[in-house]
Amino acid sequence: MTSQPLPPGTTLIIRGGRVILPGGDWHNPDIADVAIAGDAIAGVAAAFDRSSGKPIAELDARGHLVLPGFINAHYHSHDVLAKGTLEEVPLEAWRLYALPPQYPPRSVEEVRARTLLGALECLRSGMTTIQDMLTLYPFEDRHLDAVMRAYDDIGIRVVFALQYADRKGLDTIPYWREIFPSELHPLLSTAAEPERQVDLLSHFETTCLRSPARARRHWALGPSAPERCSPELMTRTMELARRYDIPVYSHIYESRGMALQARLTLPEHGGSLIKRLQREGNLDPRLNLAHSVWLSRDEIELLGEAGAGVVLNPQGNLKMKCGIPPIRALQDAGVRIGLGCDNCSCSDAQNMFVAMKLYALLAAVSDPLPGPPQAVNALRAATEAGAEGARLGHVVGTIAAGHKADLALIDMSDPGWSPMNSAARQLVHVEAGRAVRHVIVDGAVVVRDRKLASMNEDDIYGAVEAVMPGFRKDFAAISERVRQLQPWLDAAHKRFVETPIEFDRIYIPF
Ligand SMILES: [Zn+2]
Repeated sequence: MTSQPLPPGTTLIIRGGRVILPGGDWHNPDIADVAIAGDAIAGVAAAFDRSSGKPIAELDARGHLVLPGFINAHYHSHDVLAKGTLEEVPLEAWRLYALPPQYPPRSVEEVRARTLLGALECLRSGMTTIQDMLTLYPFEDRHLDAVMRAYDDIGIRVVFALQYADRKGLDTIPYWREIFPSELHPLLSTAAEPERQVDLLSHFETTCLRSPARARRHWALGPSAPERCSPELMTRTMELARRYDIPVYSHIYESRGMALQARLTLPEHGGSLIKRLQREGNLDPRLNLAHSVWLSRDEIELLGEAGAGVVLNPQGNLKMKCGIPPIRALQDAGVRIGLGCDNCSCSDAQNMFVAMKLYALLAAVSDPLPGPPQAVNALRAATEAGAEGARLGHVVGTIAAGHKADLALIDMSDPGWSPMNSAARQLVHVEAGRAVRHVIVDGAVVVRDRKLASMNEDDIYGAVEAVMPGFRKDFAAISERVRQLQPWLDAAHKRFVETPIEFDRIYIPF
């Protein structure tokens, strides 16, 4: 084997791993060296010669897979501390736990602790980029500063959006206004502040979108959901997105209730939020629609034609009784599909291996006939497609010269990797995250030997423990309040499920 000279400026060599390369065989990847210069990949070759020149750092990747770091394309850091708190809570009720306006304002210490903990979990499972769609309520600059500083300190790449809406939750859910007694209505809205939203967007533009570029920091916009945002707010959002060429993340049709709401309230758009967006001129390649479980076939076609993407979050969809997305139909229409892990209180793990496995498994049941193999598709969704959705397809998501050096190394000295028959299938169907050994972001080894290298991991756990008594007390009070609403929540949910809706559903296996 002839070795090539090292690219100039090389600072780190990832030596001798099996590297998942664009256009390569992802079942049986070739062994290669990856040269990193500063924050970027300088080159990939079968072997680089480093016999001459000054000493350069090396990471021994023999016996490892070298992947592009995963892109968690849908995530919210505001409820990281609520992981493992809820079960058997349908989506509409869950939102009252996750985003109630009645939480007392959070401390800067709590905001920093939860941001770091969430980022740590993501890094340890091989994610190098996270799309944080964050609700800060009431909005305070010191909280936003704490979040951005935490991401800088821990060293993960973030595509950051504030979540906003200008319609109260009560007016966006079918039947709630008639089912709940009026004295309970004030408890049913979530953390939207209609009167402040345009101001918030202007403030975000001034303080964030126009701020100087910083390493690993990318901006996005986060209108909560089309039904929770007026046409004016959605249009203002897309204008900003086009002006700054940044992505937009929103939620759509996660639950059956959301599809029902569209049918009931949008007769002029054929009962379709997608048609509403299209007619407003807001169906755009910059748009990423999280969930997209209850899309109809004509809506899928519209997404494909517009180049708009979806971000699937199968864990949360299943746990909150929402259903499964029409994966095969989305694929057939050529819709861009990213993967996310959504909130910690509904998913509950920030684990792309779980998301990829569920994606591949649900693709198998989203159509009764066998289709294309899904492991490579799942891996592509978790890397390349997530990067493209963030408008960072030329920056991250693939291992190629000139891209940022965002990599995850999988240690194959593990029973799950013996024997190694297919890297792609074993990543998707066998690996659960245990073998993630090193993680590199922007050329820096941020996780080394399964431990955070950028900060003291134990300090993060300590900071979380310090804020938990206050969080638990407030979460218990919120839980008690939601429990008082339970009879009406149950009645409303039953009605969502039992009301027939017009739907040309592709295939529903249950
Ligand atoms: Zn979400």
